[in-house]
Amino acid sequence: MFRKISPLIIPGAILVAAWLLLPRIPLIHPEKMALLTSAPYLLIAVGMMLSFHFRRGRIFIVLTLFAFCYHLYASRLSGLTGPTTPEAWLAFKGITILLPFNLMICALMNEKGVLTKAGRMRLLFLALQGFIFWLTVRNNLQGFWVRLTEKLVPWPLLDHFSVSQETIILFLAAGGIALWRALSRQSPIDGGVFGSTIAAFVLLNWMWVPHVPVALSAAAALILVIAIIQDSHNMAFRDDLTKLPSRRALNEQLPCLGSRYAIAMVDVDHFKHFNDNYGHDVGDQVLKMIASKLMDVTGRGRTFRYGGEEFTIIFPGKGVEEAAQHLEKLRQVVAEYQMYLRDNDRPKDDGRGKGRRSNKRPERYVSVTVSIGVAEAGAHFTTPHEVIKAADEALYKAKNKGRNQVCSAGNSR
Ligand code: GH3
Ligand code: MG
Ligand code: MG
Repeated sequence: MFRKISPLIIPGAILVAAWLLLPRIPLIHPEKMALLTSAPYLLIAVGMMLSFHFRRGRIFIVLTLFAFCYHLYASRLSGLTGPTTPEAWLAFKGITILLPFNLMICALMNEKGVLTKAGRMRLLFLALQGFIFWLTVRNNLQGFWVRLTEKLVPWPLLDHFSVSQETIILFLAAGGIALWRALSRQSPIDGGVFGSTIAAFVLLNWMWVPHVPVALSAAAALILVIAIIQDSHNMAFRDDLTKLPSRRALNEQLPCLGSRYAIAMVDVDHFKHFNDNYGHDVGDQVLKMIASKLMDVTGRGRTFRYGGEEFTIIFPGKGVEEAAQHLEKLRQVVAEYQMYLRDNDRPKDDGRGKGRRSNKRPERYVSVTVSIGVAEAGAHFTTPHEVIKAADEALYKAKNKGRNQVCSAGNSR
């Protein structure tokens, strides 16, 4: 559960912090206030540099949107108690449509970089909207925005919001898509887009409450900056296919293990044969399935993808006997799991595919087994490197003894 919602934890914490700090802002000394009002610019600039550097075009666009909105507020609207002048009214109506509309597009689109052809087209589309917005404000074309923000349903509940019903729909769509993507892909970037969408909604709906725009713009920019950092950290330390920590993460943890620990090496049995039978894509699905089972290892074990179809599990503070009990459970879970093959999971190989297609009742379920070797730190093996080597030898033993079993270094189970 905690793992599932992890992309939302930091955005959530920053939003709550911004909300809690809001009543304290008026207590700030007026001289320091100037510093505070420039905080969103600073954070947005940092975020834009980072997203440019790491080629995160979606975040770049979201930050551009916030930069535009915050600048518009700071230069034209701050100090007002509502959209009281025609210019303020137009500006407010315009951004309440354009900001959620573009957030929705950002939530929907896939990453295409910043200065790539697709990235440039997206920025051009944004500039075009900015131009239309400017035209309507300059020529006082209120009718355009009136039509875009007309009441859709006579629900009194919705009248409590200061933004239009269309704005609420766009925000719901943007937030819903970003939330779904953040949870299903475990992606910090989508978590960041979701967090900044919530910030944008609060910002627009309570825009005339003093300090809300500055606090929420800064919060949104901070959420996005952290999302980029988290995403690049994941790229380096997390395996893309299985979402497990990678070998690099394992290497970082090994020196911090203390004196008592067990390490297990897990290897999928006859996986080459499996790939040959069902194709590499089904093989990948199986690796993901195995990873998700290994991730749920009991006994406070931590799972890593060692490489290929091999995984490593560390049990801090445990010996072989204890670790082997948890590993045995894991071995059973994997062996008993029947993975359902969808129609598009047919073998890539044509001949084999035809064979299966002609079969009226194709086998729809596949299962695999794993062999596990485990060793502990102690008198025989003192360094993590030695323990891994011993676990590897125990794994080799498990393979030789017929696979689908757990073997301990030193003695066999
Ligand atoms: P054993 O029971 O002795 O471990 O047999 P095996 O076939 O699993 O062992 P071997 O090391 O010969 O083959 C490992 C295979 O795992 C080879 C490769 O095709 C497959 N493999 C490694 N990484 C991946 C991956 O990321 N995706 C898929 N689909 N296959 C992978
Ligand atoms: Mg292998
Ligand atoms: Mg294998």
